[in-house]
Amino acid sequence: MDLHEYQAKELMRTAGVPIPPGRIARTAEEAEAIATEYGVPVMVKAQVHAGGRGKAGGVKYCKTAADAREKAQAILGMDIKGLTVEKVLVTEAADIASEAYVGIIVDRATKKAVFMVSAAGGIDIEEVAASTPEKILYLPVDPRYGLQSFEALRMGFFLYSDAKLARAAGKIMQQLYTAFVNAGCSLAEINPLVVTPNNELIAVDGKMVIDDNELDRRPDIAALRDESSEESSEVDARNANLTFIKLDGDVGCIVNGAGLAMATMDLVKHYGGDPANFLDIGGSSNPEKVVNALRIITSDPNVKCILFNIFGGITRTDDVANGIVTATKQNPLKVPIVIRLTGTNEEIAMKILQDNGFSASSDMDEAVQRAVALAKGGAA
Ligand code: GDP
Ligand code: MN
Repeated sequence: MDLHEYQAKELMRTAGVPIPPGRIARTAEEAEAIATEYGVPVMVKAQVHAGGRGKAGGVKYCKTAADAREKAQAILGMDIKGLTVEKVLVTEAADIASEAYVGIIVDRATKKAVFMVSAAGGIDIEEVAASTPEKILYLPVDPRYGLQSFEALRMGFFLYSDAKLARAAGKIMQQLYTAFVNAGCSLAEINPLVVTPNNELIAVDGKMVIDDNELDRRPDIAALRDESSEESSEVDARNANLTFIKLDGDVGCIVNGAGLAMATMDLVKHYGGDPANFLDIGGSSNPEKVVNALRIITSDPNVKCILFNIFGGITRTDDVANGIVTATKQNPLKVPIVIRLTGTNEEIAMKILQDNGFSASSDMDEAVQRAVALAKGGAA
């Protein structure tokens, strides 16, 4: 689950990270009032779940309260990477002498939280990692002991030669680590961490992604979910207990099992197509899941073809077949459908599908190739 900048900053602030005061505005007038209250200059910042807001024009420096009103007016309603800006953060602006990057991610290889720090902050860290990897220090944290002071100090000195700054940065890393663990993050990031002309350190941008598996035991964090800024199909899927991730392609994939779903996407790519989504309907035999899956996938206008790929183990393929028949009776399909199923009750499933005018095969390669061709507008 993504958090907004203002939410991430609140959690970081609680852990002690120095963060300039700020408040949310939903109208230009509110933004002006906050600017007047805090005193200028202020930053007006779009709150959407997307990076690179600055480059997209969603982060503005405002010298007067009237300026804050105008900039907020321009940013509210703006489209950033397909997301509409509904609120802005109005926050005291910092004077910037330098910008560094401090981030923590969960690294599957070492099974640890890993710090990434770089003095080349502010810009895309992916770009730094690709072109000048020596500018990034990686430091895995042993979960048994947490981040040790000497490790924090080592990172501090990697960023700053000045001892006072290095120590202050080390302290911020420990605070960030605390916030990361407490909120159940898979990612926590300060970019940029700023040195002011007075040699003070402050976090002017904050980002957090929460591991969805942590939400059940953290109702306070789960309550921060903002469904209005999530992909509506993903909200729909979550409520229907489906594991779904929207992608940009045109082959809608309905698969049982996460492994098979990944393999299906790989094969779609292999044959020159592009998956429109990742979707795992799970291992249960529940025709309703198929109905929900079809509704969610067909609501995506990019989808040119639907590909079912079902391997029946615990999942009974006849249940899936019944789900397909029910769903398409409720909502007749506007795009072609390719069905591959094999395994438990395969003969019964094939019969159900044939009786209802569908064709199906048990060959995965063949089915994927057909789906890719159909999505491209070719013959089946
Ligand atoms: P992002 O583009 O979504 O990562 O948003 P950021 O909050 O990181 O802002 C982008 C850039 O705007 C930063 O790298 C800074 O250069 C600039 N910026 C952000 N906050 C401030 C501030 O308080 N003062 C000044 N002078 N510049 C800022
Ligand atoms: Mn940033």
